[in-house]
Amino acid sequence: MTIEFTKTPSLNPLPASERDAHLVAPGFGKVFTDHMVTITWTPDAGWHDAALKPYGPLLLDPATAVIHYGQSIFEGYKAYAQPDGSIRTFRPDANGRRFQKSARRLALPELSVEDFVAAGDLLIQADRSWVANEGEKSLYVRPFMFASEAFLGVRPANHVTFSVIASPAGAYFAGGLHPVSIWLSEEYTRAAPGGTGAAKCAGNYAASLIAQQEAIANGCDQVVFLDAVEKRWVEELGGMNVYFVFDDGTLLTPPTSGTILEGVTRDAILTLAAERGLSVQERPIDVDEWRAGVTAGRITEVFACGTAAVVTPLGRLAWRGGELSIGNGDTGKVTQDIRDGLLAVQYGHAADTHGWMHTVC
Ligand SMILES: *Cc1c(COP(=O)(O)O)cnc(C)c1O
Repeated sequence: MTIEFTKTPSLNPLPASERDAHLVAPGFGKVFTDHMVTITWTPDAGWHDAALKPYGPLLLDPATAVIHYGQSIFEGYKAYAQPDGSIRTFRPDANGRRFQKSARRLALPELSVEDFVAAGDLLIQADRSWVANEGEKSLYVRPFMFASEAFLGVRPANHVTFSVIASPAGAYFAGGLHPVSIWLSEEYTRAAPGGTGAAKCAGNYAASLIAQQEAIANGCDQVVFLDAVEKRWVEELGGMNVYFVFDDGTLLTPPTSGTILEGVTRDAILTLAAERGLSVQERPIDVDEWRAGVTAGRITEVFACGTAAVVTPLGRLAWRGGELSIGNGDTGKVTQDIRDGLLAVQYGHAADTHGWMHTVC
């Protein structure tokens, strides 16, 4: 049984002309739609007070636990305008299941996948005029859950808030699809065995920011992390999984065994690549194998993937004391093909043979 939502439409939605102006070049995560969803959890009442309401600030007591101890998780998926005028999302149930796993790891209450998807659907339906129907545009949906109890003791919160907001999205990286440069983080790690690396929690992002700063300071766009134990196995970027294309038709990605986030995009690419005749492998790859493979021409392309940036080619790897170019610095053929194949399904230009698309309205 799904939870019942009260619905309070916004009395002053953004005028169409201003909304459409935002949709011209939305960038990422800068403007938000007219509505939001919230649901409250307490141990006694469980999930209750589900509401769709006008978008607006949250009023938080300064002692609210999340501000102090970071008990907070989030998700991200997109809604795409389809050629037939409908709006569909990509595998929101997969995000819902991952959200449950993240909740367990952070000692937060689980929300049913049904309610998770219903909450997103409701918001998208209310704000469907914010889903641009041209180019590579979409509506980015951001569900999140946090400890909203005003209490400074250290224990799982007894008052938790789930919310969904949405933001029109254009291309994640300004300037279109061109390879990004990547900084190898040798000092900082993202995740350790037994830690929170496989959970989509706020703290993972906070902990990755200093490495991202180091990347920028060294002239790179993004950072790639190694495993925390041996500091040699390639894990992932701060918010994207990574794939390697070999000259023998192998597509390789590190296995998600606890320290790597299980990306929905990563998972879809495993399937799409196999359909394209690539030999897909999930096995650990040493950063020295990466460097030697590129130098020897065995590794021809490397790309990162995630909901926000879809598929992004990596054109250069740099570290303290060296750097190398990957391929010829352009977007590789396999990278482009996988990216196009994924977008074709998401935008309804290719048949949805895996039942990945969910019709919202
Ligand atoms: C969200 C995320 C990804 C990508 O996951 P998708 O489901 O493909 O968007 C990869 N790595 C990290 C650390 C993430 O938080």
